[in-house]
Amino acid sequence: MIKSFLDRKDLHTLSPESIAYLASMEVIERKDPLIAEALKKELDDQRNSLKLIASENYSSLAVQLAMGNFLTDKYAEGHPFHRFYAGCDNVDTIESVGCALAKKLFGAEHAYIQPHSGADANLIAYWAILIKRIEEPFIESLGKKNVAALTDDEYEQVRNEFASQKMMGMALDAGGHLTHGSRVNFSSKMMKSITYGVDAKTGLLDYKKIEEQAIKERPAILIAGYSAYSRLIDFSIFREIADKCGATLLVDMAHFAGLVAGKQLTGKYNPVGYADVITSTTHKTLRGPRGGIILCTEEFAPFIDKGCPYAIGGPLAHVIAAKSLAFSECLEPAFETYAANVIKNSKAMAAAFLEKGKVLISGGTDNHLVLLNVEESFGLTGRAAETLLARCGITVNRNSIPGDINGPWYTSGIRLGSAALTSRGMNEADMHKIVEIICRLLDAAEPLEGSKAKVHIADLLVKKTKMDVKELLSGYPLYPEIL
Ligand SMILES: *Cc1c(COP(=O)(O)O)cnc(C)c1O
Repeated sequence: MIKSFLDRKDLHTLSPESIAYLASMEVIERKDPLIAEALKKELDDQRNSLKLIASENYSSLAVQLAMGNFLTDKYAEGHPFHRFYAGCDNVDTIESVGCALAKKLFGAEHAYIQPHSGADANLIAYWAILIKRIEEPFIESLGKKNVAALTDDEYEQVRNEFASQKMMGMALDAGGHLTHGSRVNFSSKMMKSITYGVDAKTGLLDYKKIEEQAIKERPAILIAGYSAYSRLIDFSIFREIADKCGATLLVDMAHFAGLVAGKQLTGKYNPVGYADVITSTTHKTLRGPRGGIILCTEEFAPFIDKGCPYAIGGPLAHVIAAKSLAFSECLEPAFETYAANVIKNSKAMAAAFLEKGKVLISGGTDNHLVLLNVEESFGLTGRAAETLLARCGITVNRNSIPGDINGPWYTSGIRLGSAALTSRGMNEADMHKIVEIICRLLDAAEPLEGSKAKVHIADLLVKKTKMDVKELLSGYPLYPEIL
């Protein structure tokens, strides 16, 4: 018999968050102790590592709790007040509140908050754009009512037309995402993929070159947005390019949505008002639950709202509830301060590396992430640096850099982001300390003969680094409300 936390003498002194955590662990433990154990260990890991993964963050406990309930049992295909299932009144409330908050937060004409992830958001957006551009006009030209009214031959014509369309996005090895046309991803299989890179010398987007390429290729979809690019994007230029080549402009702000929501990316650096369709994750800088959203103009709204049936089945109502809470949190003034601090911290990190003579792609940062060339800075591969740092409690991810000599598996770079540590309350002085710790470790690492992944490092230095990490983290407890 497992002892219940309800027997604790100090029960009345515990926070609701502590009680919620202890209760959920107790309930799960009774079903499956191994799962409960792994969950507890994960909390320990999250608390005890220096999280510099640029795509991760720490969501609030309110966001987490909104997901853990019976809403997971609901089917609600369709969109608010227009469902293919009965009994969706409460999901209608939750989703319509969430959509209204998302529209308010970003000043967007329309919001669709059902995508399960950022990749799903892109999958839905691509189909919506293709259907609007290709299928709808074709059906209309034949004077038919809908896609079901097409003959098999006519539908085959539409399908072939889809496949011959082009999409043009940032290449994976230049900082783009898999879903922007990588060969291993659905994106390059549903359309012909054209990619643009960054200037090999400056590491910056070359808008003139992108324009020339777009005018030559005439893609149906032009994508701006990145997973690993440390500078701002001028969306007014992308709008002009899209207009010149007749493309629909899709901005994927998966990484920087929180900086837009927190009013740090404004004017031409804010995609709203420039892009036709904007996709995003909700769990990166936006700091909500793991999920995706799509914003768009009224013109695209009826197409975007059909994520189901295009690509996804029933929405995740429990995650939608959590998204709604996250949007509310982003509307609080404190989130603006948070977003400003994310950029300050990232810039402090970049400045500290540069002071030490280390090499950054594009020479610095304007956003939440820094791309460090570890090959030139330390004579290490990204993989070797990533592994050694992880051993010391510092989590980063290896990343290809423009013209990478080590290939996509070992890579020559690491990507460091400030979003998660800023959520813990860390400041610019802490960023300097972190860079100090990282450089001391990587400077001392000697690549092992014949290995691109292993290094020689003194045990004492590993021990010291672990202690420094622990000391730094002890000043910023994670989820202090949970005992
Ligand atoms: C992270 C990311 C995605 C995918 O998000 P998932 O939620 O992991 O599917 C899509 N696009 C960009 C630019 C990203 O950085």
